[in-house]
Amino acid sequence: MKGLNACKSCHLLTEKDRCPHCSEQTVNRWRGYVIVRDPAQSQVAKKMNITKPGKYALKVS
Ligand SMILES: [Zn+2]
Repeated sequence: MKGLNACKSCHLLTEKDRCPHCSEQTVNRWRGYVIVRDPAQSQVAKKMNITKPGKYALKVS
């Protein structure tokens, strides 16, 4: 997962410096990640307010 940035707002992991979901700035300081395939069925996704499938950082600093 090296080289990926995390969105400050929705925690999406991406190679870009702007989040493709919400256009927020992304940062390279994050820890841990979760892969969400079906947000509607995922407790983690609900907790983190994730509505789209993807890879998300657990902590973004
Ligand atoms: Zn985002």
